[in-house]
Amino acid sequence: MTIKKTLLLTMALVLAALGAGTGLFGAEVTLSFDHFYDNAELLRSLQALQQAYPQFVTITPIGKTGTGKDLWAVILNNPKTGPAELKAGYYIDGNIHGNEIQGTEVALYTVYYLLKNYGKTEFATRLLDERSFYIVPTVNPDSRDYFIHKATDSNSPRSGLKPYDEDHDGLADEDGPDDLDGDGSITMMRKKDPNGNLKADPNDPRLMVQVKPGEKGEYVLLGEEGIDNDGDGQVNEDGPGGYDMNRNFGWNWQPDYVQRGAGDYPFSFDETKAVADFILAHPNIAGVQSFHNFGGMILRGPGAKNLGEYNPMDRRVYDFIGKQGEKILPGYRYVTVYKDMYTVYGGTIDFTYMDLGIFTFSNELDMDPGTTESTEKQKKGAEEEQDVMSRVFGGQQNMTYYDNVLMGAEYTNWKPYKHPLYGDIEIGGIKKFGSRVPPAFRLAETCHRNAAFCLYHADQMPRLAIDEVKVKPLGDGLYQVDVAIANSRMTPSMSAQAAQKKLHRADRLTVEGGELLTAGTMVDKFQNLTQKVETNKKNFVWVENGVPGFGRVEFRLLVKGRDKVNLVFDSIKGGVATKTVALK
Ligand SMILES: [Zn+2]
Repeated sequence: MTIKKTLLLTMALVLAALGAGTGLFGAEVTLSFDHFYDNAELLRSLQALQQAYPQFVTITPIGKTGTGKDLWAVILNNPKTGPAELKAGYYIDGNIHGNEIQGTEVALYTVYYLLKNYGKTEFATRLLDERSFYIVPTVNPDSRDYFIHKATDSNSPRSGLKPYDEDHDGLADEDGPDDLDGDGSITMMRKKDPNGNLKADPNDPRLMVQVKPGEKGEYVLLGEEGIDNDGDGQVNEDGPGGYDMNRNFGWNWQPDYVQRGAGDYPFSFDETKAVADFILAHPNIAGVQSFHNFGGMILRGPGAKNLGEYNPMDRRVYDFIGKQGEKILPGYRYVTVYKDMYTVYGGTIDFTYMDLGIFTFSNELDMDPGTTESTEKQKKGAEEEQDVMSRVFGGQQNMTYYDNVLMGAEYTNWKPYKHPLYGDIEIGGIKKFGSRVPPAFRLAETCHRNAAFCLYHADQMPRLAIDEVKVKPLGDGLYQVDVAIANSRMTPSMSAQAAQKKLHRADRLTVEGGELLTAGTMVDKFQNLTQKVETNKKNFVWVENGVPGFGRVEFRLLVKGRDKVNLVFDSIKGGVATKTVALK
């Protein structure tokens, strides 16, 4: 952090503290979204927001990382409108892949935006009044700091940092890449070789193209910068970590030989388990976003096709929100993981939807700014550790971007190096912030538009109201009570997946302060047709399928009581709606 930034943050903290004392909440914390936050700055910023908005913000530890660092969640709720667990909750995480850092800034921005705009815009105020928010800005703080502060490339470390023996030689992390030229990034190594498969690109000799069949080559690419640290004849074969926490969730998990990086068994990685436990502890969570990079995609599952497609009723909800997302996020495409990207077993989004019944998206943030590949091609290469070739091949790299937009900051030109194993080689290429993450001047837009998509999804979570009540006295203290429960948003109060597989308890309608004798659902109110439903001794009826999106359920109740009763519709994921009804 620069001295200027430290000063600004200190001032913000002092002002926030003053504000908290005088009741001038909030307006004082100013965060900028033109740089990436390391863990220390992230936590300080969240704490400053908590001091400025103590009524809304809770910061809570949710577990430890593989190296023992704290994992944090932020909970936003307005207690004046009810406890968090009685409202539909929206969950966001980012950065489970350590190198995919900008999801953290989007998560932080979403918190910041809601707090800053509460009381200013109708939308932010309503959302913070009606919903609760559960946000884990970084699932992988170990690799986040590694990525930001140490020499690495834009594709690593994807893993956590618990030592892991990738090459099964009995040693862990003994031979990772090395920053041989000391430029702060791991770039590429190439060697002159008349039998090589590459030659200088005639348009720009810094780039290379594949030789045509029968043509003489000039270069061979030797992979990422590094030496044979452990003297086993291999270079860079076992770097930091080496596993994948987003392949370790408990739905459709597959062992390492099917799904590389999956771990020994589901939830064996500390971070994966902490996140799953946190979501399980908040069953009111009804919407999830898990941020990754890159490729400009709004992903839904399934991650693999072996266990079938998502429920068609629920797909309508996904399509409605996902397609609106394409308009909120120009250039992003709403697509399905297994069909349009690649197969993922044991990912976050299948766990939260298939096991927990939560409507879940995963945005692949940002198109790669440094490439001129078409979107079609990008979608195939996105996120997978891209074939290293594409980063040096001509025609795919937009050198104007590196030379004239970033003005050289994220490119190291080839320079000679004496390598202990390979002899005379050259080192150079694109540096770690030159790919997959947006340049500083575009980060704010990534944050705002993706926060806007999250808040749109959060607004489309179920929004229930007891809509219409008609009371008819039948004599002897008996009343016929017709009631409708309406949902004014696209998401049903129970996903079809949850209702059909009985993933959590159903919704229920309770009569308080009177006796519920019998009940029926309205089949046809014009013909007065009802169908009897079982009533529980505790005066409620189960609503097994919940309330559909933009729909309603209607009941006719036979109630015994005096003066008034209280109707309570109580949904795990849709919150609680109540109405007092006069019996007359
Ligand atoms: Zn990822």
